Amino acid sequence: MTTNHELFQRALARIPGGVNSPVRAFKSVGGEPFFTARADGACLWDVEGTRYIDYVGSWGPMVVGHNHPHVREAVARAIQDGLSFGTPCPAEVTMAETIAKLVPSVEVVRMVNSGTEATMSAIRLARGFTGRTRIVKFEGCYHGHGDAFLVKAGSGALTLGVPTSPGVPKALADLTLTLPYNDLAAARKLFSEVGDEIAALIIEPVAGNMNCILPRDGYLAGLRELCTQHGALLIFDEVMTGFRVALGGAQALYGVKPDLSTFGKIIGGGMPVGAYGGRRDIMQMVAPAGPVYQAGTLSGNPVAMAAGLAMLELIQTPNFYDELDRRTRLLTDTLSAAALEAGVPFSVNRVCGMFGLFFTAQNVETYAQATACDVAMFNRFFHGMLKRGVYLAPSAFEAGFVSIAHTDQVIADTLAAARAAFAEAAQ
Ligand code: PLP
Repeated sequence: MTTNHELFQRALARIPGGVNSPVRAFKSVGGEPFFTARADGACLWDVEGTRYIDYVGSWGPMVVGHNHPHVREAVARAIQDGLSFGTPCPAEVTMAETIAKLVPSVEVVRMVNSGTEATMSAIRLARGFTGRTRIVKFEGCYHGHGDAFLVKAGSGALTLGVPTSPGVPKALADLTLTLPYNDLAAARKLFSEVGDEIAALIIEPVAGNMNCILPRDGYLAGLRELCTQHGALLIFDEVMTGFRVALGGAQALYGVKPDLSTFGKIIGGGMPVGAYGGRRDIMQMVAPAGPVYQAGTLSGNPVAMAAGLAMLELIQTPNFYDELDRRTRLLTDTLSAAALEAGVPFSVNRVCGMFGLFFTAQNVETYAQATACDVAMFNRFFHGMLKRGVYLAPSAFEAGFVSIAHTDQVIADTLAAARAAFAEAAQ
C-alpha cells in the first residue's frame, strides 16, 4: 500500500511544496496532507483507507455531496461524444440560459475555466467599460490569484495597495485600493476622495476567505449606492457564494443587484469552470461582440457544461436550500453547545450551506476580529478532529461547507468527534 507520507515525499520532489494549490499543504495547521483516493457523499477516503467526514467539499463545489450519481452520469454521457470541440456546443447555450434564469442580474454571461479567470476578466471588462483604472477590494477577501488581487492595504491615506506576492509589480498594486470589510464609513471616505477614478469595487458579498464573515445590515446596499453615485461598477464575486447561500446567490439573499458577478465552484459540478456576467450593455463590450479581449481554448467545454448543468438541476429541487440551511444550523448549534461544555471560547457564523468557526467569545464581523482569534487552539482542534475522522479546512481562515449529503447522522458523528477535540484543544 502506498502511504500518505510516501506520496507526500514524492510530491515534494516534483511539485512546489508538494501540492498544486497552497492551502492543501497543511502549512498553517502543521503536519502533512492526506492523499484522497475516492470521495462519496459527505466523505473522503485516503490512500490508506481512512474515512473522513468532509467539511471542505472540494473548497465549495460539492454542495450535493461527492460523486453524486446524477452529475457522474451526465459526465459519462457527455464523454461518449468527445472531450472538447473548439466550436460552440449546445450545452453552453443551456448553461448561459440557466444562469440567467437563476441569477436575474446576469443578462449575458461568458464561461471561463476557473474563478480566477472570471474575476480577472471582470476587472478588465470594468476598466474597458468605464475607461478608469483603479479598483477597490477588501482586506481579507480573496478573488483568485490575478495580479490585481494579490494586494493588501498600505498605510497611506488612500490605502494604496502593496503587493502580497513577489512578481506583482508595485505599479499594478498601486491601482488596487483596499478597504476594511463591513466598514461603510471607510468606503464613503474613499469614494469621496477618488470615486471618479474607480472602475469597479469587487467584494465577496459573504466573505469566505477570512473564515466566514457576513455583511452587516445595509452594508451591501450602501456599497451599491456608492458605486451608482460615482459611476463605478459593483462586482459581486460569487465564486463561493453563488448557488451556495441561496439559489440566486448572495445577491438574492441580500436583495442587492450588482453590475457584474463572477462564478465558479458549484456551476462546474466539480469540473474546472468559472463564469462572469451581468448587465447586457457591459457584457456586450466583451469580444467578439465588443473590444475587450478575453478568450479560452477550453471555455464552455462540453463535459464541464454537462457536469455543471446536472448540478444546477439538483439544486433546483424544491426546499433544497431550506434543508441545507437546517443542516448547517444543526451542525453549528451542536458545535457551539459542545464548545460551551468544554469551556472553549467559541463563536460561529453561518449562512445556508456555509459556516465559520472562531475560537473567540466575540461575534466576528471584521477581518481584524477574525485574525485576532486563537489560531493555535484552532490548529489543535483541527488535528483533534482529523484524527477522529473529520476533515475541516486546514486553516483558521477558511469557511467550511455543508452539503445535502451531510445527514443528521453524519452531523451526530461530527459532534461526537468535536466533544473530544474541544476538550483536547482546551488543554
Ligand atoms: N473568488 C472567490 C471568492 C474564491 O473563493 C475563489 C477560490 O477559492 C476564487 C475567486 C478563485 O477561484 P479559483 O480557485 O477557481 O481560481
